[in-house]
Amino acid sequence: MKSVINPLAYLDDELREMKARGLFRWPRLLTGPQAPVAVYDGREVINLCSNNYLDLANHPRLKEAARRAIDDLGVGPGAVRTIAGNMAIHRELEAELARFKRTEATLLFQSGFTANAGTVSAVLGKEDVIVSDELNHASIIDGARLSGATKKIYPHRDVEAARQLLRESPGARRPLLITDGVFSMDGDIAPLSDLVAAAEEFGAIMMVDDAHASGVVGRQGRGTIDHFNLHGRVHIQVGTLSKAFAGLGGYVAGSGTLVDYLIHRARPLLFSTSHPPSVAASALAAVRLVQEDDGLIVRLWENTRFFKEGLKRLGFDTGISETPITPVIVGDEAKAMQLSDRLFDFGVFALGIAFPTVPRGKARVRTIVTAGHTREHLERALDAFKRAGEDLRLI
Ligand SMILES: *Cc1c(COP(=O)(O)O)cnc(C)c1O
Repeated sequence: MKSVINPLAYLDDELREMKARGLFRWPRLLTGPQAPVAVYDGREVINLCSNNYLDLANHPRLKEAARRAIDDLGVGPGAVRTIAGNMAIHRELEAELARFKRTEATLLFQSGFTANAGTVSAVLGKEDVIVSDELNHASIIDGARLSGATKKIYPHRDVEAARQLLRESPGARRPLLITDGVFSMDGDIAPLSDLVAAAEEFGAIMMVDDAHASGVVGRQGRGTIDHFNLHGRVHIQVGTLSKAFAGLGGYVAGSGTLVDYLIHRARPLLFSTSHPPSVAASALAAVRLVQEDDGLIVRLWENTRFFKEGLKRLGFDTGISETPITPVIVGDEAKAMQLSDRLFDFGVFALGIAFPTVPRGKARVRTIVTAGHTREHLERALDAFKRAGEDLRLI
């Protein structure tokens, strides 16, 4: 028989190398629902890994809304929105999101990722400059690459450096200043008032990715723009429906003009199918719920304070977090993974995170509490951190 060369053999080589370096892993398997206590790899554990901040993933009102949408509207939209898949429920959700974000208009995308990548690449071209925080989300980086704009990266939260980069870009057709509102690995908040002032000084477009802030920070969870009272001064906001709102999807909030433009130019919207109606319906229920009653957000922040203080009291380094994302910074990569494994043995799921996701020497176990954790869950989790931390001589 004729032997055929496998042109994908290099994938085997790369995987072998990953395995040799201990970098190959499959994510743990969740059986049953995403919940504050959940079954991963066959074990019931306190779940400190999800972005299900408000514990809405199993909320009866959201489930009912999704079920009703399936009964009334079916399971699929059948096309991209610009052809035949533009359903009334998409428009209804956009109107509700505009009320929530206090902007003229919003536009739904299939995910926060496509909202960022699709918008940055639509509003910028290769004559433009993007000034971006070094820790901004991957979808912003991909959007910048697709746009062909010149990328200028400033050190994390360094407003003076951002101003300098804007000052040095006089030849650019348009500058865009962009930051995450809440940073996902450290849980810190962008210095938004100063960044907005810098954008205004240099006539730059201001864009904020509030994926981790929406439903979490600001009044009724309206995000960092609300938290800093910057309504009307941020041209482009991105939010997600996949974290606090527990479903799937992203959106851009801003002016009617921005939305009209993106409908014609944002490629994910033009070339990828819109949400199934049930997904839009549960998100709509979630956005209405937080505006009617902020009880879940209050509970989320009570749990955040309790858990953060507990970790600090035990002697862990929790960095500069100001939100429900609390890292336990270990430094050494192997130690961080050991801490995560030991915690799992003790019934707590908290992910170990190392380079390249975080800088070398800053390996950590990241925790995210939710509104659905009880005091007893959090006390048990702190006890596991105490035992694991002592075992590994971290505290
Ligand atoms: C999660 C996240 C996204 C992507 O949102 P998805 O809806 O999951 O695609 C974008 N930006 C930031 C900062 C995020 O944390």
